Amino acid sequence: MSYYGSQNRCKCDNEPQPKQHGGVVSLIVSHRKEHHIRRYGLNDCFGKGQQCQSERPKLIEEVENQFFSNHSMRCFFGFLRVWVIDVFFTWIRYPSFMAVLDTSALLNWPIERCRHQIVSVLQQSELNRVDEQRWLLIETLDMDWRTATEDERQIVLDIASKTGDLPRLSDVDVDLIALAVSNKTTLVTDDYRMQNVARAAGIEVQSVVTSGGTKQWKWVLRCIGCRKTEDVASDARRSRSDDVKECDRCGAPMKLKRV
Ligand SMILES: [Zn+2]
Repeated sequence: MSYYGSQNRCKCDNEPQPKQHGGVVSLIVSHRKEHHIRRYGLNDCFGKGQQCQSERPKLIEEVENQFFSNHSMRCFFGFLRVWVIDVFFTWIRYPSFMAVLDTSALLNWPIERCRHQIVSVLQQSELNRVDEQRWLLIETLDMDWRTATEDERQIVLDIASKTGDLPRLSDVDVDLIALAVSNKTTLVTDDYRMQNVARAAGIEVQSVVTSGGTKQWKWVLRCIGCRKTEDVASDARRSRSDDVKECDRCGAPMKLKRV
């Protein structure tokens, strides 16, 4: 039972020198006044526009009681406050820098710097294979694991065929560039082919260890037999080392050549 309920009169009436409040407290007072009138039909205290000093803690307590009617609500509010503070300090420490990290960044960057960055689900098995200890550590971090959609991947395949880098890009590479393109964010990689495609797609590139050049280049296919050259098709076979295709004219292997 509240103070007002038990007495049915406000203490203000007995105070010799009532005090006028201002600012936030007056807001609470006016809110309290409405509540007071609604609940008890009394306007004798607040009608004077006065509130005594000793009432202030009770008012705040009662306003709090009104908003958070039971113990679990107050607990929930407590947790919410802690969460908001946590989010705020995380935001201060990692100000809006969200990048897509390739596997070399996951292996070489300080572990704290990797936290909250965008990574491809396809990297998980790659990372596990290359460095199991590191993977176990990365697994515990709060990373943003994603996979690009088919449409997003197709955009990258088209761009990579234009630059001629496509035959040497792996599925993970394509996925990472597609994630950077779809999220319009920086791609962190030392792979010069990925850098080339990302720049062609208008994505900012950051190197992991090397300083990294900013040059843009193009590759074409050239037959080692008849020397015929042609552009890379958007459905070209992708492999780290195999020949891309055989020459339509003479049947000899075609190799990638920088122009
Ligand atoms: Zn040929």
